[in-house]
Amino acid sequence: MTVLIGAIEAGGTKFVCGIGNDRGEILERASFPTETPDVTLERTLEFFRGRNVEAIGIGSFGPIDVNPDSPTYGHVTTTPKPGWKDFDFLGTMKREIPVPYGWDTDVNAAALGEARWGAARGLSNCLYYTVGTGVGVGVLVEGRLVHGLVHPEGGHVPVRRHPEDAFGGNCPYHGGDCLEGMAAGPAIERRWGMKGHLLPPDHKGWVFEAHYLAQAVASAILLLSPQKVILGGGVMKQMHLFPMIRREVQRLLNGYVQAKEILERIDDYIVPPGLGDNAGLAGALALGIEALGRRTG
Ligand code: ADP
Ligand code: ZN
Repeated sequence: MTVLIGAIEAGGTKFVCGIGNDRGEILERASFPTETPDVTLERTLEFFRGRNVEAIGIGSFGPIDVNPDSPTYGHVTTTPKPGWKDFDFLGTMKREIPVPYGWDTDVNAAALGEARWGAARGLSNCLYYTVGTGVGVGVLVEGRLVHGLVHPEGGHVPVRRHPEDAFGGNCPYHGGDCLEGMAAGPAIERRWGMKGHLLPPDHKGWVFEAHYLAQAVASAILLLSPQKVILGGGVMKQMHLFPMIRREVQRLLNGYVQAKEILERIDDYIVPPGLGDNAGLAGALALGIEALGRRTG
């Protein structure tokens, strides 16, 4: 009999719920906007009720508490989203549907999904960036999703300003001194007075965008030595950014990292998600599968 596993991609803009099997196939899905926790979780519970899932994986927007020893494990921590700050997301789900849970950041989930079934299939070390309303980074090292002190927050790494970029930046914590403040979707929109998808491919904005993203990616390559760097999220729908970012990463590294993947095959090294828009949901499914394995294995 097929084992059914639940998956929740809990984004700051929308929730995607799914039911899948242990081969990573999504059999059913539903999506709705993220409203207050009570409204959103009611819709989530409604989706799963009576569906007999044996475990559920949640990849959540954050910051979130992923430390199992912490009294606030499973909570969303500091978000400005109304009602979600300090909300016990995981605890609420467990009370209503008592099955084993996997719980991680949306981007860590996506990194895991890509390593299982996507662009980083078979690899133990990869990075997953989302460049959308914010910038987030999921980190898989030696087959494990990195948590450490809290969880990686690579969207807020410091960046050097482009000499021609006069934009003051958009991050409530770091202004224009961090990647998200300069390169997330809302930064593009505020800088140019229009949404990113309206900027033509030869617009100066994309030079700036590649400048900032490449700095973060080059630093991450030097620090973590990933075997694949995956760039997803709404802004990365601009496919012409990929060659620009690859070139800029090569320029910044300047031949120092002696890997053919970077020197000769960078087109296969810095890539879009192999699972496309399913990376997050598939990742949540992978978290659910891991949770079931921990219980039964
Ligand atoms: P979220 O981060 O909220 O989960 P997305 O990854 O879709 O959702 O990111 C939304 C942001 O990405 C918005 O700022 C939007 O303007 C921008 N965006 C979405 N699609 C595109 C596109 N095709 N080109 C450029 N920017 C885009
Ligand atoms: Zn920041």
